[in-house]
Amino acid sequence: MVNMQELRIEGIYQQRQDGYFMRRIKLPAGVLSTEQAIAICAIADRFARGRVHLTTRCSMELHWLREEDLPQVAREFVAAGLTSRGACGGAVRGITCSTQAMAGFPAVERLAWQLHSHFTDNPRFERLPKKFKIAVEGGYAGGRHLIQDVGLVLVRLDGEKAWYDVWTGGGLGRAPVPGFLLTEAVPAQQIIPLVERVVRVYAANTPVGKRLKHLVAEVGQDGFRQLLAEQAEETEASMPVPAPRRVVAAAPGRRIEARPFAGEVTTAELRTVAETAQAFAEGTLIVTAEQNLALHLAHDADPADAVAMLTRAGFAGTAREERMAFRICPGNHECRMGLGPTRDIARSIMDRLGPAAEKLTWAMSGCHNSCAQPQLAEVGVVIAGLDKDAAGERHPRFDLLRGGSGEAFAQPVATSLTLEELLDAVERLG
Ligand code: SF4
Repeated sequence: MVNMQELRIEGIYQQRQDGYFMRRIKLPAGVLSTEQAIAICAIADRFARGRVHLTTRCSMELHWLREEDLPQVAREFVAAGLTSRGACGGAVRGITCSTQAMAGFPAVERLAWQLHSHFTDNPRFERLPKKFKIAVEGGYAGGRHLIQDVGLVLVRLDGEKAWYDVWTGGGLGRAPVPGFLLTEAVPAQQIIPLVERVVRVYAANTPVGKRLKHLVAEVGQDGFRQLLAEQAEETEASMPVPAPRRVVAAAPGRRIEARPFAGEVTTAELRTVAETAQAFAEGTLIVTAEQNLALHLAHDADPADAVAMLTRAGFAGTAREERMAFRICPGNHECRMGLGPTRDIARSIMDRLGPAAEKLTWAMSGCHNSCAQPQLAEVGVVIAGLDKDAAGERHPRFDLLRGGSGEAFAQPVATSLTLEELLDAVERLG
């Protein structure tokens, strides 16, 4: 008998299709080595139909796993130095970064790795009321600090020393709430004790099934600060900083990307990207928040040669799906919560767009959980519900969101659209 609670803590969800499971891999700041990527390809070839999904939280997911294969998949993850512990369920999730191209990324990646090491597989931070999301960002571009339980933004860098603004209480879902600025310019060595206190306040004061944003709504920002002040510091502020796992240089103009549609990459494609990383990017590749794979080229690498290798793998960057910035969650292709076939609908949308609308940023989520972060795109689409027709067949209804109004998040401009109404609406965008 499958214990779903335990499976979730191990980063596993039941898939929409009976008898199949998804397992998510935590990748701090989205970074993994060529060897790890090759190992994931071997696992996916054997157990996951030769496909890997890239998420908007810089993780990888393997779908189509059978229950009897889960133990072997777990052993192979361990052998490759990969973990999914806490990637789902009430735990501190994978530490993300959406600003990997910024100059401060090596410092950001180091902190992401330290947070990952501190919170992952630590019984003190499991069995939380619900998920707890942390991002470390190299700057304010993109606004992703606003959608986290804790969003850390690098604001000053002086050699090895770094300082971060700390935001908290944000989240998307059915009732999106932007986070608020908790405190400014905190030295990096004080971040883990502070975040730990936030997690402990959350765990001690929030009903099961609720996010931190609900606690903040209940007690207010001042009340939350008060709870935080009362929370004893258990982790030493001067805790030793572990050595970084690896540092990825983000030299200007020397970042290239493979951009698979909807983050769906075949193992043949991923292997080639990993081999390109080995040849040109010091054996490191990065899953981005846009569901792409980025390489930061070594100082002696020839960008033209690296681009040629990605082109041979099918990532020429010329197809509309590659040119467009369009985040797309799995929807009901695989996800149990999905209300519609997101990838199919996204292709229909792309077929109707003019050149100006192609240049906008897009995101589409298969339900109100908003995993594709449609509230952060210039155009967001959410499958908001299902309608039954006269024959009893169910059809998705869509909310259309537009950003750029000055609000923190894109706002609904039309709700409960049929597919045809949605396609007519997006055709008029420019
Ligand atoms: S937004 Fe909904 S349908 Fe899409 S992956 Fe998240 S939970 Fe699943």
